[in-house]
Amino acid sequence: MSDEPASPTPAADTVVSVAVPVAVDRAFDYLVPASFGPAAPGCRVVVPFGARVLVGVVRPRSADSDVSEGGQLRAVLELLDPAERPAVPAQLAELCEWIADYYLAPIGEVYRLALPAAAMASDTRRVRPTQQARELHGLDGPHTLHGGPLLDARLAVGHGDADSPVLDGHDRRLLAELIAAVGSSSRKAVSVAGLTRLEPPIPAVLRRVASLAEAGLITVETSPEAARRERTELHVRRTDRLRGAGSDEPALKRALGRSKQRRALLDHLEQQCDADGSPLWVGLSELRGPFPRVRQLLPPLLDAGLLVAREQLRRLDDFAVAGAAAGQASGPAASPSASQSFGEAPDEPPQLSSDQQRALDRLLAARERGGFHAALLYGITGSGKTEVYLRLIAELRVQGAGAIVLVPEIALTPQLAERFRARFADEVAVLHSGLTERQRLDAWAHIRSGQRPIVIGARSAVFAPVPKLGAIVVDEEHDGSFKQDDGVRYHARDVALVRGRSHGALVVLGSATPSLESWQGARDGRLELLELTSRPTPRPLPEVEIVDLRTHAPDAETLLSAVLRERLEATVAAGDQAILFLNRRGYTTALACRSCGSLQQCPDCSAPAMTYHLARNRLMCHLCGHIEAAPQRCLACGSTELEHGGAGTERVEVHLARDLPGIRVARLDRDSARGRVLHERLARFRRREIDVLIGTQMLSKGHDFPGVTLVGVLRAEHGLALQDFRASERVFQLLTQVAGRAGRGERPGRVVIQTWAPDHPAITFARGHDFAGFAAQELAARAEHSNPPVGHAALIRITGEQRPAVRERAAGVAGFVRELAARVAQGAGELTAHGPIDSPIERVNRRYRMQLLLRTRERPALRWVLGHLRRELGRRGSGRAATQVRVDVDPYSLL
Ligand code: ADP
Ligand code: ZN
Ligand code: ZN
Repeated sequence: MSDEPASPTPAADTVVSVAVPVAVDRAFDYLVPASFGPAAPGCRVVVPFGARVLVGVVRPRSADSDVSEGGQLRAVLELLDPAERPAVPAQLAELCEWIADYYLAPIGEVYRLALPAAAMASDTRRVRPTQQARELHGLDGPHTLHGGPLLDARLAVGHGDADSPVLDGHDRRLLAELIAAVGSSSRKAVSVAGLTRLEPPIPAVLRRVASLAEAGLITVETSPEAARRERTELHVRRTDRLRGAGSDEPALKRALGRSKQRRALLDHLEQQCDADGSPLWVGLSELRGPFPRVRQLLPPLLDAGLLVAREQLRRLDDFAVAGAAAGQASGPAASPSASQSFGEAPDEPPQLSSDQQRALDRLLAARERGGFHAALLYGITGSGKTEVYLRLIAELRVQGAGAIVLVPEIALTPQLAERFRARFADEVAVLHSGLTERQRLDAWAHIRSGQRPIVIGARSAVFAPVPKLGAIVVDEEHDGSFKQDDGVRYHARDVALVRGRSHGALVVLGSATPSLESWQGARDGRLELLELTSRPTPRPLPEVEIVDLRTHAPDAETLLSAVLRERLEATVAAGDQAILFLNRRGYTTALACRSCGSLQQCPDCSAPAMTYHLARNRLMCHLCGHIEAAPQRCLACGSTELEHGGAGTERVEVHLARDLPGIRVARLDRDSARGRVLHERLARFRRREIDVLIGTQMLSKGHDFPGVTLVGVLRAEHGLALQDFRASERVFQLLTQVAGRAGRGERPGRVVIQTWAPDHPAITFARGHDFAGFAAQELAARAEHSNPPVGHAALIRITGEQRPAVRERAAGVAGFVRELAARVAQGAGELTAHGPIDSPIERVNRRYRMQLLLRTRERPALRWVLGHLRRELGRRGSGRAATQVRVDVDPYSLL
């Protein structure tokens, strides 16, 4: 054997398949010039795409084209990552491929999940002229730079040797354009993509950028916000123009156009006031959670004078305040109370209960055996699941491994993130929607480098590039928010299992109300069942009392029955706290006309009625976000006699405060609390500055309020009537989870469930804290129609603005699918297609919706049919303009 390394094969151009971040369901092949070196899977490449330049990712599969047709292929313009350090690590790239395949998702959209937006934005690289270039520009004057003798002379002096780059007239023109574009500012910069527009063609510009940088005439920075100073960001504030309830609705409509998001943003900012009602400055990073496209929404609002903007100090990342950054001086704009909402006493790990110890031992034993292992940690509410995760991860850290912890909605549970920080300090990265793009990119880099090996975040944190991934924990695994319901319709729990398998990691699914999928998995032995059957301290599960509303009429406004009202007063009198739960936000669920009976409906949706919001005196559609001023007269007949329908959380809050003076009431729902306000309200409740908290399902999620001894459910049967096979499961979960908020402190808790349907199994099993009983009867019901988890399902949804076109397309798709189903039947398989029918919500945001539900007991049959359908849809195009066909594999909502 020779000592020589294998001689490299003569360099040749190669062809790679590239995932380009567009919503087209296909990949694109590009030629990689040999001079670039190898383009490994997961590396980012700059590619021409139509008239644009985009950043894509090299896929870990071979391209369809080959080099011999090289003439037809466009070439990669640049390779952004070295082969030994791809932006998307190999295993993650494989995961992306699996997702695209399983969920029938556009491959480019999937890779977008695995990288922070800033890493894939086409103009992340910013270029600015150096001082040297400016001097030359000054000497030559703007006119002579285009090839003046002085510039030539300078360049000749500076770079006399033969290897130095030679600048031609195009290079100089580009430089002149750049200097003109940034003017005299030393901070302004132009994106590389911007340069390609100043001076096409694209490949030449990229070459010139390289040679100008080499000549020291420009600098190129890769960070997205390099041009902006780190600690400031754009803040906006509502002006008085067209403000308030009595404002001029038509004028507002003219200013806003048809954009609902824009209207919603304006409304949101109108709510952000200080105690005297004067509007506050709000940073864009805070707006990005509820309004991801906030930047695009702003210009018309600013132009119309409805908002004003200014650059000012950024508030610190709420989640960073208590942890690593605690000692750091916070800027004047930082909220002082954000830090108070964390900072409990230094963390002393408690002695584990025997249940907890057994669960931990089993997980560690699986870790010892090595390889993939998945477990369901089924522990009643308050049984100490989080403590098990903490111990497990501490052990993994000793072994040098990292972990991902997925939680339903990170913004709702700052407390959980804080428990991790208290244990692991700055080894923890918290990914949440309030991060700026810069912070997100930083967090991602810290994770990728191993600096922060523990990651906590919502759904998309399942893609975090943790090196040596030892475990993925999915807390509250039953929660619906793990399923993304637009774009790439993945389920983070299922993706976690697939990822865990490929990394040989542990996957722990935790819940007090496991999803039936996971429960079935535990019964089949796919998941090891670990149970925590009691709370660690002597706090029994709360006693549950059912109040039959048919015999105990509720008050029309507070919705309280006499029984619940009495209990509420007693609780507060004893110095304890209470939670009231109602899954309806707004003041009233409808505004009805007394003369003609019609409900005030959304113009763009088929929901029965818009919700009335008192504080804003607005009607809102909760499906599409449409907002309009509350009408003075019935939209149908003009009568002024409008009456309120059923109460929502806002109305209950208002009337409780009035009926029970002296009791401090607050509300927690998406209207009243977001971002900083949400954190503060939760913190005040924990500090017992609020007696009664009324809220929606936001309240059910994992909170630990030791002072709460009473939980009242105002109407338990909401949601049971929905035409969705999961309706009953959801109600059971919700009731059990809210009930679990009671009695977590020193004193025992009590739960009062008011309902018009006291005999529904979802309610009776919840009363008995009987998950196993509920699951058994629900699984039997699912089996009857091969509904998941007994069978497998996919929902094909056809939408469009014209009803006939939607019908026709739906019929076409149904015909195609039925033929395939018939072929499955010939092969002695079984797959049924139900529909097409109008979706339960027939129209949303101007689009009519129809659907077709596929069900089978055999996953391969479903995969086979969907594979064919995908090719068919690809061939026909997804019909963007007129109709769209979307497939939701393992759908979570059938509405
Ligand atoms: P879960 O996640 O199952 O709802 P948590 O982990 O939030 O439960 O635990 C509920 C409460 O019990 C928390 O206040 C936690 O600090 C406390 N706790 C957990 N484990 C123990 C233990 N072994 N001893 C004492 N208290 C514990
Ligand atoms: Zn009317
Ligand atoms: Zn609507």
